[in-house]
Amino acid sequence: MLTALEQYDPQICELIKQEKARQAGCIRMIPSENYVSKAVMTATGSCLTNKYAEGYPGKRYYEGQQITDLIEDIARQRAVKVFGSDHANVQPYSGSIANMAAYMALVKPGETIMGLSLPDGGHLTHGWKVSATGKLFNSVQYTVNPETGRFDYDQIAELAKKNKPKIIISGATAYTREIDFKAFSEIAKSVGAYLISDIAHIAGLVVGGVHQSPVPYADIVSTTTHKTLRGPRGGMLLCKDEHKIAVDRAVFPGMQGGPHLHTITALAVALAEADTPEFKLYAKQVVSNAGVLAEKLMEYGFELVSGGTDNHLILIDMRNKGIPGKKMAKALDRAGIVTNCNTVPADPAPPFNPSGVRIGTPAVTTRGMKEEQMIEIAKLYKEVAENIDDTETIEKIGKKVKLLCSEFPIPDHFIVS
Ligand SMILES: *Cc1c(COP(=O)(O)O)cnc(C)c1O
Repeated sequence: MLTALEQYDPQICELIKQEKARQAGCIRMIPSENYVSKAVMTATGSCLTNKYAEGYPGKRYYEGQQITDLIEDIARQRAVKVFGSDHANVQPYSGSIANMAAYMALVKPGETIMGLSLPDGGHLTHGWKVSATGKLFNSVQYTVNPETGRFDYDQIAELAKKNKPKIIISGATAYTREIDFKAFSEIAKSVGAYLISDIAHIAGLVVGGVHQSPVPYADIVSTTTHKTLRGPRGGMLLCKDEHKIAVDRAVFPGMQGGPHLHTITALAVALAEADTPEFKLYAKQVVSNAGVLAEKLMEYGFELVSGGTDNHLILIDMRNKGIPGKKMAKALDRAGIVTNCNTVPADPAPPFNPSGVRIGTPAVTTRGMKEEQMIEIAKLYKEVAENIDDTETIEKIGKKVKLLCSEFPIPDHFIVS
């Protein structure tokens, strides 16, 4: 695959090789990242990138859709099958665009939407002020209970009663507990709001049966396709039949032009992979790994937001260690453990230097790591925190990371050029 690149653009080819080596040689724990299979990567890099297909199967603006219609139909059918929804739109370019389209499908600019605030674990596109979603809509934000790190459903209900949003968004980028979609749907019903559930992070866990599904409760389910679902970079909307026309219109022509068919093709492949017993085992292992990692980290005196995790994600509050989140994340990266700094609920520190570190198990689980390795990794976190300013020791920890990576190479069918 890389031969052509080697010839025509050796500079970029070399950088791709270096990034490939980086991904193989470090412990990747950013919870939104993963490794896609060779099959998914092959479809992503296929000739479908050459085709324009504005519209939907059977109703395109350009000719030559003999194959593309079949592919998009398969992708939609597979999405409907694995999520159990009435309808799927597989065209959104990303999770952010999918969210915007979901809002536009149900309400008009200026109307009120209510989502989780960014510092509390919500996504930018849930109405945060710097996002278009916070500018075009009247945005009301709920928080988590700073004491428990969890949703206080009574408080959310109260805020909804006071502000009468047209849309309530349930979903997060940094929430460590199972989300009660039924409770959210009851809150939405009580104020006559639509419920949009954004499962970008947990889509793979939902398909794998280790997190409850919002599909029975939400008017629209929005998701990315590349996080725990382990597909290509993209977005997707699932909805009930009554919203099908509005959703499709909101995506095209509302938000987008031509769909990225290479991505849709790869999504079809990823959805077939997700519809296997192996994927269910994977999802289960992701959660089990996170649970063990959380337990061990707490044993080592790390404070975790919400006191643990139900899903793939752990939020470490570094305040009791006296180490800022960014400093910890940088030291971990030097040792070859890649994470991101993150705000913690009611964080007194500024957002560009927050108190927390966000970590997750999707990628390491794809590498085949299990509970035993989580115990080892927790110890590495402890060692990094204890030697935060000691470059030599951090380097030594890096050697242990390299060793662990060599014992758990990226599986054959996940290795790509
Ligand atoms: C990642 C994420 C998104 C955005 O996805 P992009 O593909 O990066 O645009 C939206 N919502 C949530 C909850 C996310 O975690």
